[in-house]
Amino acid sequence: MPGPYCPSCGVSLPIVKVWQEGKTDRGGFSLNVKTGVVCPNCGKRLVILQHWAVVATVVAFLLYALLLFEAFPHAEEQLSHMSRPLAVLIALVAVLPVLGFESLISPHFSKVRPIKDGETADFPLDNNGSRDV
Ligand SMILES: [Zn+2]
Repeated sequence: MPGPYCPSCGVSLPIVKVWQEGKTDRGGFSLNVKTGVVCPNCGKRLVILQHWAVVATVVAFLLYALLLFEAFPHAEEQLSHMSRPLAVLIALVAVLPVLGFESLISPHFSKVRPIKDGETADFPLDNNGSRDV
């Protein structure tokens, strides 16, 4: 799934790479600071609006949880009979698809807007690392 796109030239932006290099919270769930991306085609500096990416992750997580509860209706009871480390391990493995979605798919749901004059943002993909505008 491509996108978001540069509003000037329409090129797909390297959003997943920004998400990987940028300052995110512990789980990579959201960007911690105002983060920007430079269009690789026209060089336009854009600020990432991540609200829809976060919403997409939450919705995906809820749908996945519903799916798991439908597929394994007695999972909670079965997990309670297991040793705690095994139950934790199973829970961690079960959450892996959501983590993959979160890091590879949900960033594409973010939007971008041109950076304003005097506005600062972190640009993790700049050649010299993070820097303000
Ligand atoms: Zn562009």
